[in-house]
Formats: sequence, structure tokens, C-alpha cells
Amino acid sequence: MNPPEAPLLAVRNLHTRFHTLDGVVNAVDGVDFEVYPGETLGLVGESGCGKSVTAFSILQLLRCPPAEIQGQVEFEGVDLLGLDKEAVRRIRGGGISMIFQEPMTSLNPVLKIGEQIAEGVRVHKKMTHRQSRRWAVEMLRMVRISSPGSRARQYPHKFSGGMRQRAMIAMALSCRPRLILADEPTTALDVTIQAQVMELMQELKKEFNTAIVLITHDLGVIAEMASRVVVMYAGKIVEEAPVREIFKDPRHPYTRGLLGSIPVIGRKAETGRRLQEIPGVVPSPMEAPPGCRFHPRCSEALALCSTQPPPVIRLTDNRCVRCWLEAGDNEKKTSDFV
Ligand code: SF4
Repeated sequence: MNPPEAPLLAVRNLHTRFHTLDGVVNAVDGVDFEVYPGETLGLVGESGCGKSVTAFSILQLLRCPPAEIQGQVEFEGVDLLGLDKEAVRRIRGGGISMIFQEPMTSLNPVLKIGEQIAEGVRVHKKMTHRQSRRWAVEMLRMVRISSPGSRARQYPHKFSGGMRQRAMIAMALSCRPRLILADEPTTALDVTIQAQVMELMQELKKEFNTAIVLITHDLGVIAEMASRVVVMYAGKIVEEAPVREIFKDPRHPYTRGLLGSIPVIGRKAETGRRLQEIPGVVPSPMEAPPGCRFHPRCSEALALCSTQPPPVIRLTDNRCVRCWLEAGDNEKKTSDFV
């Protein structure tokens, strides 16, 4: 599918810094990407790469420690970073919803599940109490919670982990958002429930044409769900490509490392090789290495990688990579992610 002209969300040169007692933490450092209506964009990378902070910055959900967010976050053509708190609150839930990794941290433990869903639609859809309660039961039915009427009257602690995640999805979808930011939505669940939740999100996406930004470190989930992938490392985007191309021909050494660490049944028997681990860890955002931030872990690093930040190379209309290995000539250089 060719994406339509106008993106639903356009993130431009996003910087998020935390001012801490130990100094300034550059968690997101000049990130650019777009999301089109109805598509699923995968945002991948190891923990600490800046994926979740990117999502939280989009919805301005960062409060502590004090965060400074700069750049542009255009949703349906309006820059969210230029809006006041009340206008952003209206967009949160109404236009953009978020699904968190651990639902217990975002569900209110002292409010019945049905009431939590109903509260959102009363605010965003101007429903009456009676209408919103019926709507909440309907949403729970839609995410396949059995006996939704009685479940709506229960508190979150009565729900299993899988049911709580479904309740979160029901809450996220209850106002029919055009975009969902799903931050590791199935990480805390066992594999059977994971598969069911993913299937459910796919079905709901089809039904409502909702776009999804799927944040995960799990490339298996990306392969099933996403049409395009953005790979982040140490606060920067290092590769962007359609999902099929990135699996077939990853161009950044970090992407190759991530793909090499996915277990594939029969891989050792077929190739005689073990799973590859990326050596080392993601650097602290306070101590990003000079040059290419990946160079201390990169087995293909060139001499200039430790001193010169790599340029972004546009490979095709829909593929970019930030790596010196792809810098054949100066004409290829773009400033998209710089
Ligand atoms: Fe490796 Fe150099 Fe490419 Fe960075 S720029 S990923 S260090 S080859």
C-alpha cells in the first residue's frame, strides 16, 4: 500500500532532555518520522534507546524529572507542542491514545473498570452517564471479555494480566482514536495471551482504520504487525525501511545485530551458527560516545566512526540508514535525521 500524501502524525527534529541533579540527559536526539492513517509503524531498539520517551514526548506525558521537549509533533496538521495543556488533554484519548506495558500502572486501582472506560467517553464524546456505562460494556465485549456487564463492575485487581491488557485496549479504543501509541503492549503477557492481544489489535485496526505506533524490542512482533520500521539507537534513528526490506536486507550493523539475536527454529541446524548477541550495552544518554554512538559495539566500524557522526543516507524513497558504510559519495547524503 502506498501511504497517502498527508501523514496523520509527523514528528520533526524531536529532542527530549531531562534536567537532573547529575546533569542533562539527552534521551531523544533529533528524531524524525511520519505515521500515515491506518498503518502500523514499528519503533524498535533495545531498552534505553529512547523509544518510550519518544512516545511519551508526543503526548507530553513526561513530568518527572523536568523534561524539555523541542521540535515539532504535528497531529493532523496541528503542532501539539504549541498547544496549551487543556488542548493537549482533549487530543489525548480523543485523537491519540496510549497503551502501556503494565496496565496496573495506568488503571486506577480504586475505580471499577467500566467506570474508567466510561469516564473517558463522557469527557471526549460528551455522552451521558447511562450512555457511557453502556458504551463501556460494549467496549469490553468487543475486546472479548466474557460477561462484560458484570466485569465492568469489578475493580482491576479482579482481572488477570491478559484481561487487564484487554481492558486497557478497550479504554484506548473507546473514543475511537485515529492513532494509538502502544508501548510494549504484550511484554508482560504469556505467549498465548500475547498472540490473542496482537490479533485483537489487528482486527480493531482494520475495523476503525486506526494507525498504530508499536514500540517494542521484539522484532518477531514487528514482523507480524508492522508495515514500516524505525530502528532507534541511543536516542537517534539509525534505520527506517518497509518491514519486508528490513528483514530481507538490513543495512545498519545495529539492525543486523537485532535480527541476528532473534531465535529462529532450526537456525543452528541449518547454518551451524548460534544466535548472535550484540556485545556491550546501550550507552547512557549522559555519556554518548563521540562519532557514531554505536561504534564501541560495532564489529564493522571504520576508523572515522569513532570521531565523525555518520550522515543519513537515503537509499530509496522509503529507506534511510545512518552509517558510514553506506556513504559512497556526497550526493547520497541527506539531513533527514541529523
Ligand atoms: Fe558501525 Fe561505523 Fe556504521 Fe556506526 S557508522 S554503525 S560504527 S560502521
